[in-house]
Amino acid sequence: MIEVQKGDITKIKVDAIVNAANTSLLGGGGVDGAIHRAGGNEILEDCRKIILKQGGCKVGEAVITTAGKLPAKYVIHTVGPVWNSGMKNEEIKLKNCYLNSLNLAAENNCKTIAFPSISTGIYRFPKDKAATIAVETIKDFLKEDEIIEKIILVSFDDENYRIIKLALDK
Ligand code: ADP
Repeated sequence: MIEVQKGDITKIKVDAIVNAANTSLLGGGGVDGAIHRAGGNEILEDCRKIILKQGGCKVGEAVITTAGKLPAKYVIHTVGPVWNSGMKNEEIKLKNCYLNSLNLAAENNCKTIAFPSISTGIYRFPKDKAATIAVETIKDFLKEDEIIEKIILVSFDDENYRIIKLALDK
């Protein structure tokens, strides 16, 4: 089941929320900053352990940490592509963000997951294209998967909320 919600992803009580992180995993602006601020230092401590082990996170890949003080159990950090006129495989990279996050969630027995609209903020991915990729990738995944029960697509603003709803109703 896929649901669209407007609001702040840090407030949502699900098994895992997804963070639109950057390759350093050390926090940044946008949703990344909001998650680290609200979740507290434990999230950053877990990120540091991952950095020691594998030196950050590549574009399209995902890692999992505690959610610290957030109502969720885990944060799945994935690194979206920076939009560059669509010439650098951005669409495939964005699809991989969703796929790798979903796989990691299922591996950790997460039944409910909330996603922000990855790459559509500071990374400037066109919102309609991003919404189509998110919805199609998640729908295809859910056809095969037996663990995940509910996915919430969280949009921070009215425009994105409308765009995601449209993509879902297609
Ligand atoms: P990126 O660098 O991947 O573009 P951003 O954090 O800048 O990441 O933006 C990704 C999306 O997350 C944007 O659509 C932005 O409006 C949204 N966003 C920002 N803060 C929050 C929040 N607290 N909860 C949910 N979505 C958020």
